[in-house]
Amino acid sequence: MNKATPVWGLMAALPEELGDLVHRLQAPTTHRIAGRDFIQGQLQGQTVHAVTARIGKVAAALTATTLIERFGVNHLVFVGVAGGLGQQVRRGDVVVAHELVQHDLSAWPLFPRGEIPLLGKTRLSCDPTLTQALQTAAQEALVGEQRLHSGLIASGDQFIQGHDMAQRIRDHYPDVLAVEMEGAAVAQVCEECGVPFAVLRTISDVADEGAAHDFVAFMRDTAAPLASRVLARLFAG
Ligand code: SAH
Repeated sequence: MNKATPVWGLMAALPEELGDLVHRLQAPTTHRIAGRDFIQGQLQGQTVHAVTARIGKVAAALTATTLIERFGVNHLVFVGVAGGLGQQVRRGDVVVAHELVQHDLSAWPLFPRGEIPLLGKTRLSCDPTLTQALQTAAQEALVGEQRLHSGLIASGDQFIQGHDMAQRIRDHYPDVLAVEMEGAAVAQVCEECGVPFAVLRTISDVADEGAAHDFVAFMRDTAAPLASRVLARLFAG
């Protein structure tokens, strides 16, 4: 983790995914940039910028870049929901990323499939210290049958539902645990800007034919409370 005074960026795609975080910020002020509300406040004496990016890699990259360049964020945490792809990963479980990949990126035959052109990397690693802190907070925040996994998350500009779509990603990345639409974009921005980052996802579906069912109820009943508990613990320690 970076030694400068922490300026935290907390990001999600959709408002529910941040849980009650925004309501817990003290002395909040809002800046509206590019149609997004960047809310600055204090949490346990630390400066936090919270924002919802909307869905997809471009939206996530725009938002992460703004957090870093405009607000001086030097620790970035992304929370949200994802589809489970790993064999052991069930609905309700939590996945903390160690690495992220863009499953829909291919500049083949100019570059190997999946490699970020001119960056020379396919998988981007999360910051180990921040990821460990997020994992510890997540472990303490689990309830009932929820289990914690850590490993590879794949991102792309597609909602993955159905066996064939899911299998195509597993074929390229056999160790993949979850699929979503923003994490690897945030990872690339943070990698290129030199900002430590971590990503946590609650599994809302298993990327099968029923993936879009109960999405709203799951967010409200499971993902939002989990995010509230994790972020409260992350800032308590
Ligand atoms: N039904 C929702 C749409 C959610 S799109 C709505 O109406 O608002 C999916 C969002 O959840 C994205 O931000 C993505 O990161 C995550 N996600 C959850 N399950 C996913 C899946 N199976 N494939 C891709 N992204 C998924």
